[in-house]
Amino acid sequence: MSNVELQPAETVCGGRAEVAAEPVRDLITGHQVALGGPRGMTVTRTLPGRQRRMVGAWCFLDYYGPDDITGTRGMRVPPHPHTGLQTVSWLVAGEVLHRDSLGSVQLIEPGQLNLMTAGHAISHAEESPADHSPILHGVQLWVALPGSDRHTAPDFAHHPDLPVLRDGGAAVTVLMGELAGAVSPARCFTPLVGAEASLAAAATLRLPVEPDFEYAALALAGTVEVDGVPLTPGPLLYLGTGRSTLDLRTGGGGKLLLLGGEPFAEQIVMWWNFVARDHDEIVADREEWMGGDRFGVVRGFDGDRLPAPEMPTTRLRPRGRER
Ligand code: MN
Repeated sequence: MSNVELQPAETVCGGRAEVAAEPVRDLITGHQVALGGPRGMTVTRTLPGRQRRMVGAWCFLDYYGPDDITGTRGMRVPPHPHTGLQTVSWLVAGEVLHRDSLGSVQLIEPGQLNLMTAGHAISHAEESPADHSPILHGVQLWVALPGSDRHTAPDFAHHPDLPVLRDGGAAVTVLMGELAGAVSPARCFTPLVGAEASLAAAATLRLPVEPDFEYAALALAGTVEVDGVPLTPGPLLYLGTGRSTLDLRTGGGGKLLLLGGEPFAEQIVMWWNFVARDHDEIVADREEWMGGDRFGVVRGFDGDRLPAPEMPTTRLRPRGRER
């Protein structure tokens, strides 16, 4: 998905200053963002935000739905560029069709991962297929690439078979990274984890986690208690570091997305759909999208590509996570 804000701010992220050095339970409510169009979707964006910009290398989180898209075209995100990140697409219900400048055309359904590595440049479009299900519900995430890999060649991977841990009434799918010995086949560039826990009614689960990672959790359906905090879909619960286990519990059943990772020590600058290291790189990326050919061409999308917004007049430099 694209950041389609008309006046996106340049955001500085990364560095260790904002990382909680102990277990915490900070609820991040996020903000509502309209994705545009006559019947555009509204998403809840919890990363980056005023309260927190990153969790490990996870630097962007939009939660959307469940939306009834019966009789509409559903999601329509025109071709747009990315640099310096991976996009992680995960659905709870419905389908999304991905097309990119490498020529990939891939439908994603619940339980499958679409992972696009932008590296030095890629462009893509995402839309509901013509013959789509009535309900669309999911999350769109970005992972920042470390400096050593941020100029890597662009890549797209579809992972329909992901490892699932089962324990009583719980099933945990590991999308990215490793959890309790289960390793996702998806390519990661920094130590991190992304997992979906699906809990039957009255299920409890104790997950082993890494004390050096910071973690956060987002309910995708139902109500799930995370370390005693009841979570319903929308907000993100930041959990800090210093845990070796994490307790989940539900009454009526639910689904939870767990994100974690080694704190991302590098400082990055994010603007629109670009992750860079300074303002000048962002300006160059924008100029390439508007007039160059580095981002290639997305074929098969019925509509115009997304123009870049105007650059903000303020100039940001990378700095720590202090507010
Ligand atoms: Mn995108």
